Amino acid sequence: MTRRVAVIGGGLAGITAALRCADAGLDVTLLEARGHLGGLTHSFRRGELDVDNGQHVFLRCCTSYLDLLRRLRVMDKVHLQPRLAIPVRSPRLREPVWLRRNGLPAPLHLADSVLKYRPLPVADRLRFAGAALALRGVDRESAEADAQSFADWLGRHGQSEQAITKLWDLVGIATLNAHAAEASLSLAATVFQVGLLTDAGAADIGWAKVPLRELHGEPAKARLTEAGAQVLLGTKVSALSKEDGGWRVVAGETEFVAEAVVLAVPPDIAHRLLPDGSVNLPEGWADALGSSPIVNVHVVFDRPVLSEPFFAAVDSPVQWVFDRTRQSGVDGGQYVAVSMSAADDLIDVPVRRIRERILPALRQVLPSGARADVRDFFVTRERHATFRPAPGSAALRPGAATAAEGLVLAGAWTATGWPATMEGAVRSGDAAAKALLGAQNPNSKDM
Ligand SMILES: Cc1cc2nc3c(=O)[nH]c(=O)nc-3n(C[C@H](O)[C@H](O)[C@H](O)COP(=O)(O)OP(=O)(O)OC[C@H]3O[C@@H](n4cnc5c(N)ncnc54)[C@H](O)[C@@H]3O)c2cc1C
Repeated sequence: MTRRVAVIGGGLAGITAALRCADAGLDVTLLEARGHLGGLTHSFRRGELDVDNGQHVFLRCCTSYLDLLRRLRVMDKVHLQPRLAIPVRSPRLREPVWLRRNGLPAPLHLADSVLKYRPLPVADRLRFAGAALALRGVDRESAEADAQSFADWLGRHGQSEQAITKLWDLVGIATLNAHAAEASLSLAATVFQVGLLTDAGAADIGWAKVPLRELHGEPAKARLTEAGAQVLLGTKVSALSKEDGGWRVVAGETEFVAEAVVLAVPPDIAHRLLPDGSVNLPEGWADALGSSPIVNVHVVFDRPVLSEPFFAAVDSPVQWVFDRTRQSGVDGGQYVAVSMSAADDLIDVPVRRIRERILPALRQVLPSGARADVRDFFVTRERHATFRPAPGSAALRPGAATAAEGLVLAGAWTATGWPATMEGAVRSGDAAAKALLGAQNPNSKDM
C-alpha cells in the first residue's frame, strides 16, 4: 500500500525530502505557506529587474546540493569555477590581490596565494600555515570544539586580529554567517576542513546564471508534479496532531491524515508545531538557537563598473560584491549586489542611512565605480537568514528522527554538522527521507 506523506515546508530541505519520498513511490503532499517553492532562496520582480532575495553561492564540495540540481535538471543554469579564484579588493590597493588555487594538493594549493596576500603583513602570512594545519586536526564532532569560539582558537594558534578579520573572516563570515568571535569552532572547522584543507578543488565557487526561482522553486514544482507529488502553495499548516493511523495536518480549509510527516519549516515554527516530548532538547531551544541576518544592498549603475563576476573586500564595510547584470535582465549599465552577512548592524537601518554608509565604501573598491551614476538603489533584508552558529549551538540542533513515530525533521538548522547553507538544507532533506524510508536507500543514484 502506498503510504501518504505530508512534507510541510517547501524550502530546499522540504523539496529534497519530497522528491526522495516521491521517487521511492510514496504518495507525497507538499504544503508550503508562501505562493512559491524555494524558501529562503527566492526571487521577485522590481519593475524590469529580476531580483534575488540574496546572493547565493555554493562550493564544489556541496555534493548533495549538486545532486539536487541534477535531479531538478538545472545544471546548465549554474556556473562552477574550473579553479578557485577570488579577487580581493581593498581601498588601500589599486589592483585586487587574488586568492587562487595552484595545481598542488590541499592544503598546499593555497600556499603561494597566502604568501602573496598583501592586505596582511608578511609575519601574519607566514603564521597562517600553522593554524591551517592545526585546524585540519580539530575533531569537529566533539562537544569541546563546539563549546569554543573560532576566534579564541585562532588567537591561541598565533593568528592576529587582522589575520582573523582580513583572511579567516573573509571566508568564514560568508559561509558561517558569523564573525569568528561569534562562531562555534566546530562549524568553522567543518567549513575549512571540507572546503579548503582537504581537497584542492572543494572550494571552487559556483553560482546561478538565472534568478533563484528559475533554479530551485519553479523546476522543483515541475519535477515534483512529474513524480506524482501534490504541491499545495499558499497553504500554511497551523496544527499537527497524532491520531490513529497517522498525523492530522490542518492548514486552513485543507485537512487530511498522513501516515508520516516531514516537518521542514524554520526552527521557531517547528518548535510550535512539534508535539510535546518529540525532541530531546532543552526548554526554549528554538529561541536559544536564534537567528542571524543577511542584508543585500543592490545598486544599478549607469555603466560597467566591474569586469569580474564577483570580488571580496577587506578594509571596508563592504564584504562580497557580485555582478547581477545577466541574472536580472538589466538593460544597459551594470547591476551589483553587495552581500552583507552577520548583518546585525544593518538589519534595522533605514535604506537612506545604508546608502550613506555603503555606497561611498563600494565606490572605493569598485575599479570604475567612482565615476558611474546610480540608476537604482535598494536593499533586501533577511532577518532570519540562518540559525546563529554560536558556540554551543550543536546541542540545540535535533537530528532527523524524533521520538514521535512517523514524524521526522528537516531544515538547514537541524543536526547536519554543516552551518545553515543550501548544502545543509539538502543534506537534512536526504536524512529525513532516509529516516522515513528506513534502511532502504531511495534512488540515491538518481539524484
Ligand atoms: C540572503 C541569504 C543569503 C544566503 N546565502 C547563501 C549562500 O550563499 N550559500 C548557501 O549555501 N546558503 C546561503 N543561504 C542559506 C540558505 O538559503 C538556507 O540555509 C536554505 O535555503 C534553507 O533551506 P530550508 O529548506 O532549510 O529552510 P527554508 O528555506 O526557510 O524553508 C522553510 C519553508 O517552510 C515554509 N513554512 C514556514 N512555516 C510554514 C507552515 N506553517 N506551513 C507550511 N510551510 C511553512 C517557509 O515559507 C519556507 O518556504 C542564504 C540565506 C539567505 C537568506
